[in-house]
Amino acid sequence: MLAATRLALTLALAAGGQDAWHEPFPAHRVAGNVYYVGSKDLASYLITTSEGHILINSGFEKTVPLIRASVESLGFKMSDIKILLASHAHSDHVAGHALMKELTGAKVYVMRGDDTVIAQGGKGQYLYTTSRWQPCPVDRVLEDGAEVKLGDVTLTARLTPGHTRGCTTWTWPVQEKGKTYHVVVIGSPNVNPGFRLVDNKDYPEMAKDFAKTFEVLKSLRCDVFLGAHGGYYGMIEKYGRVKKEVGKNPFIDAEGYRSYVAQKEKAFRDALAATRETKVPGQAR
Ligand SMILES: [Zn+2]
Repeated sequence: MLAATRLALTLALAAGGQDAWHEPFPAHRVAGNVYYVGSKDLASYLITTSEGHILINSGFEKTVPLIRASVESLGFKMSDIKILLASHAHSDHVAGHALMKELTGAKVYVMRGDDTVIAQGGKGQYLYTTSRWQPCPVDRVLEDGAEVKLGDVTLTARLTPGHTRGCTTWTWPVQEKGKTYHVVVIGSPNVNPGFRLVDNKDYPEMAKDFAKTFEVLKSLRCDVFLGAHGGYYGMIEKYGRVKKEVGKNPFIDAEGYRSYVAQKEKAFRDALAATRETKVPGQAR
């Protein structure tokens, strides 16, 4: 494909994606006690437990009312959200954290590397130096492998850096129809436009971090494939199949996970090779 055509296509896809950021989407059960409560593309997940709920991602401040409507449409209460987690410290996943904390009283847990960015309302981010939001106090700083327990549920936080320094992939087991399935919510494997993989004085270890991330992602057992954006795992298409494919759960997609990770690793390796040839890498979100 010609570079110009490819660029136009990338921009068109990115623009389409961002429209979907602020549109509501029907809340739905994913598997076991895991529910999708995000917008049409900004993924938020509610995990219900015997002692209250965990929420992953608040989106923007304007996403918070959409999440609230979704949570309530499922018959759950915002005040039962006890712990608020994040995929990574970019505005589209955490700018609503302060408002969400205020509404729910939830404790905010963040992976080391993203903790100060969230606490300082966006200050200290790599590349997006003018992106700011309401600072949100962080109650607990997590390390790679940290367990987040609430009631009968234990989530494991895996550090998957590169996209941000504290980018976090969440994994935990769920039960459905007497079987155990492993959920993986990918933090982000994406090399965004403008990311410098080599000779980067603001984030010198970026390429090494991405390489580490792909090793972690390839090592995880995944049955239920989820991510920080619905687009990672084809959320809209899979949701459309739920009612048509009775008795099946389209969100259980181990093969989809493996091929997505392989495709993203290739994109990273290609971007790294292109950077070394001093070409500009391009990869959405
Ligand atoms: Zn991001």
